[in-house]
Amino acid sequence: QNDQITRFMIDKLSTKSFPPCMKNCHVNLRREHHLKFGARRQYGLFLKAIGLSLDEAMSMMRDEFTKKIPSDKFDKEYAYNIRYMYGKEGRRVAENGMSCSSIILRNPPSAMDCHGCPFRHTEKHVLAQRLQKENFNKEQIEKIINFSENNGYDKACTRFFEFSHKLEEGALGCLITHPNQFFEESQKILN
Ligand code: SF4
Repeated sequence: QNDQITRFMIDKLSTKSFPPCMKNCHVNLRREHHLKFGARRQYGLFLKAIGLSLDEAMSMMRDEFTKKIPSDKFDKEYAYNIRYMYGKEGRRVAENGMSCSSIILRNPPSAMDCHGCPFRHTEKHVLAQRLQKENFNKEQIEKIINFSENNGYDKACTRFFEFSHKLEEGALGCLITHPNQFFEESQKILN
């Protein structure tokens, strides 16, 4: 865990080291200046687990949300939940980042939501478009889609990791089962 991570590093980190579930939340945050509850929680806990401090997380969300809403509304409606995730409100227990299985099994997203696991919850043609944007070749895209259509979400994500880090298939040596594992393995390679 890196305590030095600031909100100004997130755009860059997200391009290579965030798994697709979290990259999706980040892109939506920047584009919509808002995240719905499911994404605020899924993404917020992930950011906390990569080492983004409460102050930095609060500033990042405030900077985006207040492009659309007044800051007193942000304080009233959203700040509490961010402090809660860091264990500063309510039962005061800092929560851990959500694992892939809880993202995949609990709280499935509706069509308007951006949380969830793209390999489980995103329609095939949309997933294929996103994979094309990652510059994967046809064979790589087919492989990932095939796993995701056959309940192999962990395998799909692991191949995604390997292809996006220019590794041989199987080179990671384990399966991705947690978004923060994806991040940590990526940072090991890139740093
Ligand atoms: Fe995120 Fe896990 Fe899905 Fe990968 S398999 S996109 S890390 S939820």
